[in-house]
Amino acid sequence: MSLIEITEVRKSFGTTEVLKGINLDVEAGEVIAIIGKSGSGKSTLLRCINGLETITDGSISVAGAQLLDDEVHLKALRLKVGMIFQQFNLFPHLTVGGNVMLSQTVVKKTPKAEAEATARKMLERVGLGHRFDAYPDELSGGQQQRVAIARALAMQPTALLCDEITSALDPELVAEVLAVVRELAAEGMTLLMVTHEMKFARDVCNRVIFMHQGRVHEAGPPEEVFAKPQTAELKQFLGVN
Ligand code: ADP
Ligand code: MG
Repeated sequence: MSLIEITEVRKSFGTTEVLKGINLDVEAGEVIAIIGKSGSGKSTLLRCINGLETITDGSISVAGAQLLDDEVHLKALRLKVGMIFQQFNLFPHLTVGGNVMLSQTVVKKTPKAEAEATARKMLERVGLGHRFDAYPDELSGGQQQRVAIARALAMQPTALLCDEITSALDPELVAEVLAVVRELAAEGMTLLMVTHEMKFARDVCNRVIFMHQGRVHEAGPPEEVFAKPQTAELKQFLGVN
């Protein structure tokens, strides 16, 4: 059994079918890059995996538990699958530490002292142990995104979904965020990341999924997908002939 099993998943918004039968099994510890043009369904797929969108057809299971469309299951699922977005979505009125503690105390009902200890540990892990009492607007964008990563890690997820997490950053801040992701990958975290960082995908990911018009159009290890693209669509996306 794979950690995440996505079988014939379809998703429509109104009459528009955005995901057209996605099949994807993710093993524990895999690091997968999802690439493809804007509008190909990458974000929708991630949002379906952590239950932010309900699927129209097919099935998704995480760690053996079927993703069913009811509150109890969705809540359990969101505890298992963390998600990080392009926008950091930190609460400006809370300190860095407060931001990392919040979902632990509110969603998991973790006692405050324990939540604080976990928050400190996770901030340490992303290199921001010394900024526990700072406010988000005192940090750079790269640091804020690292706080968002710490916040996701504090929930002890079995997998992390990253949706273009470096796209809103100034170029000089991208590397520090990717370095954190690289470390998580090395530590065995299961990662699904939508990314435009092709070099990173090549270096760190063990599988690349190319999405086109709501389907997995081509997939394989990075050395194949990048060096020997098979379809015209992937060649065009990569800008090779
Ligand atoms: P990507 O992340 O690859 O750019 P998305 O998954 O965001 O693609 O979007 C895929 C398609 O679904 C796009 O055509 C987009 O306009 C449409 N879409 C996404 N979310 C919604 C929504 N909430 N309502 C209607 N259409 C949506
Ligand atoms: Mg997107």
